[in-house]
This record gives sequence, C-alpha cells and structure tokens, in this order.
Amino acid sequence: MVITIPPQEFTEFLNEISKKWQEEWRRSRIFEAEPKDQKKFFTTVAFPYPNSPFHLGHGRTYVTGDIYARYMRMKGYNVLYPMAFHFTGTPIITMADDVAKGDKELLDIFQNIYEIPSEVLPKLSDPLFMANYFKEDIKKAMSELGLSIDWRREFTTIDPNFSAFIVWQFSKLQEKGYVVRDTHPVGWCPVHNLPVGMHDTKGDKEPDIGEYTLIFFETKQGDLAAATLRPETVFGAVAVWVNPKATYVIAEAWGRTVIVSEKSAEKLKFQLDSVKVIKKVSGSELTKMTSVNPITGKEIPVLPADFVDPSTATGVVMSVPAHAPFDYFYLKKVKPNAQPIPVVSVEGYSDLPARDLVESTHPKDDEDLKKLTEQLYRAEFNKGKMRNDVLTLVKSEYRSALESVGGKPVPEGREIITKFLVEVGKGGKLLEIMNKPVYCRCGNEVVVKILKDQWFLDYGNPEWKSLAKELLSKMRVVPEETRKDFEYALDWLQKRACARTRGLGTPLPWDKRWIIESLSDSTIYMAYYTISHKIKEAGLHPFQLTGETWDYILLGKGNPEEIATKTGIGKDLLMELRRHFTYWYPLDMRHSGPDLIPNHLSFFIFNHAGVFPKELWPRGVAVNGFILYEGKKMSKSLRNIVPLRKAIRIYGSDVVRIALTSTVDMGSDANFTESVAKSISDSLKRFFELLDYTSGSQLDGTPEKWLRSKLNRIVKESTPLMEEMKYREVVNDLLFNLSSYINEYLEMVRSESREYNPKVIREVLEVWTKMISPFAPHTAEEVWHRLGHESFVVTETWPVPDEGKIDDKIELEHEYYKQLIDDIRAILNVYKGKPSSVTLYVHDGSLRRLVSTALEVLSKGGSVKEFMQTNQPKTKEEAKRLQRVVQYVTEMSETNKRLLKVEDDEMEMLRRGIPFIRYKLNLEVEVLQFTEEVGKLIKKEALPLRPAIVLK
Ligand SMILES: [Zn+2]
Repeated sequence: MVITIPPQEFTEFLNEISKKWQEEWRRSRIFEAEPKDQKKFFTTVAFPYPNSPFHLGHGRTYVTGDIYARYMRMKGYNVLYPMAFHFTGTPIITMADDVAKGDKELLDIFQNIYEIPSEVLPKLSDPLFMANYFKEDIKKAMSELGLSIDWRREFTTIDPNFSAFIVWQFSKLQEKGYVVRDTHPVGWCPVHNLPVGMHDTKGDKEPDIGEYTLIFFETKQGDLAAATLRPETVFGAVAVWVNPKATYVIAEAWGRTVIVSEKSAEKLKFQLDSVKVIKKVSGSELTKMTSVNPITGKEIPVLPADFVDPSTATGVVMSVPAHAPFDYFYLKKVKPNAQPIPVVSVEGYSDLPARDLVESTHPKDDEDLKKLTEQLYRAEFNKGKMRNDVLTLVKSEYRSALESVGGKPVPEGREIITKFLVEVGKGGKLLEIMNKPVYCRCGNEVVVKILKDQWFLDYGNPEWKSLAKELLSKMRVVPEETRKDFEYALDWLQKRACARTRGLGTPLPWDKRWIIESLSDSTIYMAYYTISHKIKEAGLHPFQLTGETWDYILLGKGNPEEIATKTGIGKDLLMELRRHFTYWYPLDMRHSGPDLIPNHLSFFIFNHAGVFPKELWPRGVAVNGFILYEGKKMSKSLRNIVPLRKAIRIYGSDVVRIALTSTVDMGSDANFTESVAKSISDSLKRFFELLDYTSGSQLDGTPEKWLRSKLNRIVKESTPLMEEMKYREVVNDLLFNLSSYINEYLEMVRSESREYNPKVIREVLEVWTKMISPFAPHTAEEVWHRLGHESFVVTETWPVPDEGKIDDKIELEHEYYKQLIDDIRAILNVYKGKPSSVTLYVHDGSLRRLVSTALEVLSKGGSVKEFMQTNQPKTKEEAKRLQRVVQYVTEMSETNKRLLKVEDDEMEMLRRGIPFIRYKLNLEVEVLQFTEEVGKLIKKEALPLRPAIVLK
C-alpha cells in the first residue's frame, strides 16, 4: 500500500482523518467514563465564558489538559475529563451590551475576524442568545481539537439544578462564617455601579488596591492634601507640587476644607461619606500661594509641575528633593537655589541620594526618573535609616513626641510618623488603584469604592486562610516554581465581594436581590461534574436538590432513607450519586493559566478547604503560559487574533495541538508561528511515509540494534518527562530526534550496501504511534490502523522500554564514528586538492591507563598538580607526556569519556566503522597502528580514541 501524500494536500488529509476519528471516538463512546474497579484520574480545565469564539490562545490549556488525560488513560487510569459553560455574570452580559450599543471595534472583529454571519450579529445583543450561540461554536472547536471530553456531563451555570448546588455551597460557607456582611474597599465601575474583579475588566486586569498617606499642608484657602507613599520624608518637604494645567477644587472632606484635583474629588465620593465641592480653582492659581509644612512649621512654596498626574490620588504631591529623583530633577529647573534637606541615610549614597542618582545617570525623561524613583525607594526601604538630625527640623511642640524616630529603619519611621500625623489631625489616608488605569469592560475607569453592607467571602479569615495554606502544601503544583505565586496569593487575599446586582447566575440564598458573581460560583463546581449526567438522566428537579440532598451526596451526612422520603429521590439513586461522587473525588488535576493564580485558582483552593474534608481536597494544579502569534500577543488593537477553528482548518488539528503545547516548557509563553507549524507538519508526514517501508532486507545487524537502542532509550526517558508534563522534551524526541535517527539508520544500512529491515521500521512506528497519540491523536489513530490494528490506539497501553535493547556500547561507537567524520571533514575543508583516501592511525592503547586515571582524578574535583604528583614523572619527556594527557582529558568529549570505560580495542572498533565512514565521506579508508616512528613521519599524533588523520 503506497500512501505518499503531496505536501499541499497533507493538511487536507489531516483534516479528513481528524474528522473521521473524532466521529469514531464519539460513536464508540470511549471518553465516557463511569466508576469501575480501576484506579481513576479526574482532571478539569476551566469551563469557558461563551462570550466570543475561541482564538488560538484559548487552546493551550485545554490541549495541555487533554494530553495529560490521554497519557493517564494509557497508563491504565480510568480518566474523566468533563466540560461545562460559564454563563454567570458580567463577561457575558457586558459583551451583549456592547453589541447592543453597536461597538464598532467589537462588531468588526466578530464579523471580519471570527466570520460570524451578518444575520446572527444583531441577535448577539441578547445575552442568553450570545451565550448559547458561542457555546455551540466553542464545543465545535473543542471537538475539532480532539479533546477527549465526556460530553454527557455538560451543563451551564444557569441550569436550575446547578444553581441548587451553588445555593448549598454558599449555605456551607455561611454556616462556617466565611461569608460576611461588611464594609470594605473594592474595585468599582462608576457607570455599572458594581464591584469589578479581574473577569469584569478589559484585558483581565485584577484591580490592585493600595493605600496613600495624605499629609495636609495648610494654606490660606484650605489644606493642600498631598498624597504620598513615603510619609517619613515629610521632614524634608521643601515645596508642594500641583499641576498648573489641571483644575483643582476647594472642598469639604475629612471634616476640613481641602484642596485636591477635580478628578480626585469625584473619586473621593466613592470612599468618603461626604465630599462637598465649594469652588473650582486652577492649578496655576494655586502656585501663587504658600503653604506650611505641618511637621516643621516652615512656610514653603506651592510650585507648578507637569509631571503631577491630577487623576492619581489627590493630584497634590509634596516635594522632597533629597530623596525623590523627580523632585530633585524638576526643582532644579523651577527653583535652582532651593536647598534639599536630607531625612534618610542609606549606605552607598551621600546625604542627598536623589542628587547622586540624577547627576550620575542624567535621566532623559519621566520614564528614566520613574526607574530611579523605584531604585531609590527599594534601597531606602530595605536599608535606609531615619537620620538623627531630623528632629532639629521639627516644630518644638512636636519634638518630644517624635523623639523616637531618629535612627529607626525606614519602615518603622514611616509607621511612627504616619500615626503621629493622624493623631495631630495633619494626616489621613486614601485608597487608589495602584495598577491604574484599569478599565471596566464597559470602557470606564475603575475606581476604589468603600462598599458598605455588602456580602463578602472573607478570604482574610485566619482559620480559613490556614486551611487553604494547608491544602496548598499538600497539593502538587506543576511547574513547582509556581508554588510561591500561590503562597503569595493565599496570603494576600482579603475580603472579596461575592455578589452583584446584575448578570445571569444564582441569587444569594439569603438575600435574593444579589446574584453570586462569576469568580465565586466557579470554585468547587468540579464536584458537580461527577453526577451531573446522572441528575439529568433521572430528571431530578431543583426542589429535590435540597441542602440535605447535597449534604448526603457530597459529605455523606444524613440518612438516605429519610432524605429519599422528603425529596422523592429514590434511596438507591441517592446512594448511587454518593458512590459516583466518592469514586471521582478528589479532583486529581486542575489546568489553568498563570493569570488565574491570584483569583480563580486561589478561590478554588479556599473553597475546597472551606467546604470539604481534607481527604476530598484537590491533589494538583498545572499552570501553563500564554500564546503569542508570530512573536506578538494577540490583541484587538493589533487585529492579529487568530480564531482557533480557523487555525485548525489551516494547519490541521494535530499540528495546532503540538504547536500550542509542546514547543516550550510548561511555564513559558509559546510562540505560534507559520514555520513552527510547518516543521511539525513535515515531521508528522515523515512518519506517514514510513508506512511505505514494507519490503527490504531481513538482515538484523548493528544498524538495527542501534535504532532499537535509540528507540528504547526514548521510551525510557520520555515516561518520567510525561509525568512532569515536560511535553517539549518528549515531542522533540518523538518528532525530530527519532526522525533523524531513522534517516541515520537508513544511511547505516546503505553503507553496508544493503536494504533497510522493514521489521525494525515497523517496530519504531508501533511504539511511536502509541507515544505520539496523546499529542497527535488523529495522526496516531490513522497510522495505527494502517499498521493493521483494529483497536483504538488511544486506548492502548503506554509503551514500556525494553531495557535489554538499550546498548550503550553500540550507541557510543556510532557517536565515535560521527565524531571522527566531523574531524576529517574539518581537515578536508582546509585541504588543498582532492584526496582519494584517508588513513587513520590508531593509538596503541599504552596511554589508556594514564588517561583513565587523569579523568578520574579531575572528575572527582582533583587538581592537575595532584595528578602530576601521583605519577611522579622521572624525565622531562615523561612530564611532557603527562601534560598532554591532562590537556586531552580537559577537552575530551562526553562520548569518549564514556567510551573509554566500555571499549578496549579501538583498532577493532574503528575497523567495524570503515563502511560507514567511507559512505559518509566518499573516500577510501585505511586503518593502521600508530607508532612513534609513524608520528615523526606524519608529524601528527594519536591519542586513545583520537586517531591521527592523514589525507592522500
Ligand atoms: Zn462598567
């Protein structure tokens, strides 16, 4: 059977076989998993928000999870990989709103990039229609990718039965005191009037709320409220900066009359009970005033500065030229004679660190100044001490209260001065989005709001936090380096608003005006997968899925007979549901992206720790990097978004799977490029071509042994790599290295003037097909069947290496020939004329013992001196020889080092290699013994495993 495929048709061919095998798998229901007497593996990837079709970037995590699921199946596990759809909350509803508003950019992308039919577009303004429409499209993408999903378990988060489960989850959390009604700052959309979390923002940016200290500098019209992250430097404030082009307001806030930027006053309304604007005043007007440093009592000027951003904090900043590069740089321009006042001393700097930095680096712009600011902030925060002489600057009446500041490390000094400022009515605080600007999906900038009387999940609760940390400590994290990010996130999380007033989803059970938001109803839903198909099958209703029902199924509490009577769910069914849940739970692996560590994945940990007993805590998370396309992040503005289904059409499913997951390490971003896709495609094609290698020689010699050795070594080394999800190394071996070994094998048999042995080619193909099947399941299935098998390769067992066939000596000998060929080629490159033969003079082996000893001494960390001493050279000649041995050993190849241990007759070994060397170089090859006399004659020298080379 000849199946040679022209290159242009290969993708078409891949698409055809992909479709065929997806259909076959579906028909045979091989991914439908039920409890049975077999070890299980339960894996999940986040259910998607169906608010747009999938692009290339979406594919990575789903395929990464699928590869591992398929691998575990082959390792003999009963694997469950289910999927559902997240309809909850703002991601869906805001996208529908944008369609309704006629958002041009969005409609353009839907129409021209995702090629959504124009008659469908207007219907997408209905959130439910949108969710269902994209759900179907994403499902198609998932099956076209060949994901091994058990689709019977599919649900959406607005299914009433799922809502019953979420109601139970929240009742549990409330019982334990983890849901609280409280007042707490949140990221807030002023237009939606709603809290905003990562999944509600453009570009999925989690609003990071931080605190500024306010210091009130008195003026005749009110207090200039300067905002600072470094209140300890107030001693050295020699001026106050305002932006001359901005509008400021005089307002009543914090129980006093203050001056802040107009933009700031608007935002303050979300943090303070009352902000009353009295009148507007221009920034340039303010610079005509003077103000008073509240700590020193000194009168200082109000100066104009364009670098002051009126939309950050209060738009008023104090000027501390000794310690702030910005202040030093700009103060020199507007007030060259101003004297900086040092406040903090820090090792490695003079009294005026800001001057040191500015004058030594000559910053060109604000970007440079920003970097210097960060550098100095770190240095002073970590190593700086408050100077003792700051006290002489302080107003006399404050002096005794601030006495303790001198000599304190900066963090402590900061605390003392902040507390003091507040006590004497000269300080306050202001919350700000530190990673601003963050935009709500509706396009408005997110602000900080102090939310009163709202429902929060209290991730700051110490008891809950410590359970979450315990869970993390017991959980496998892939890659392990990511664990510290989880530790940081679990520590950092505090109260989080868990309900919204709009969007689809489940109402809070005790306060039905609120809908549980999307990052709160997606934390333990993996439990629901274990029984979702059974609930559907039995036609159960939400009213039957009461707290008691869930308590029994998920926690084993209560009497099934009583619950059966109360709910009308049969006792047998109840017990079966319980059996299904306990078979699959705990979850074995959760796959996700790194952006979800500080929220979704951490909430997943907290909620499991809060609701379930320890034996049901999840066992693993795997975090993979993002996808770039041709080196760039895909974005709307670059218009370089590649729809996933389109990529599959263009490159073929298996090519896309490998390009997305197996070209870089798990934690790194992968770059999807045309050329990477092509090289994967070419490699896959090469293995199809091997199916044609069916007739040839029956000879089973060294080349066959060598190829088998290489193959079994790959099997042996790949298995632990698969366990660790180190897909890059495995695929590199399977696609690229193995294919070059086959080419090399073919050369080896040709050098023996014979044909390949089809048996060994088939052996390679059989093993390869199994091993590539987690990555390229469609290709594997096709090759497997063309090899004459009737089973599905995806249900076969992962190969075990035949260790007896791994032959170090054969592999090393072959490496030795290749090394020698390279050496001869190097000489050929500079050889004048055209030689017809090469003579190789082999060392007689008399130096072997010395070389071995030198190798041993040096590899154990011994010195050259030590080696020389143990050998005690008697003559100059001998010393010279020892020197040469040492020199040789330091530059010896790994191959030769290992070969030295297993090979003792170099002459014989080299004779065996003559045909291959001759074939590769197209030269006659002669092998002779090296002697001292020959050495003098040819003016060259041989060493053990390094013959002298003479061309003729
Ligand atoms: Zn909004």
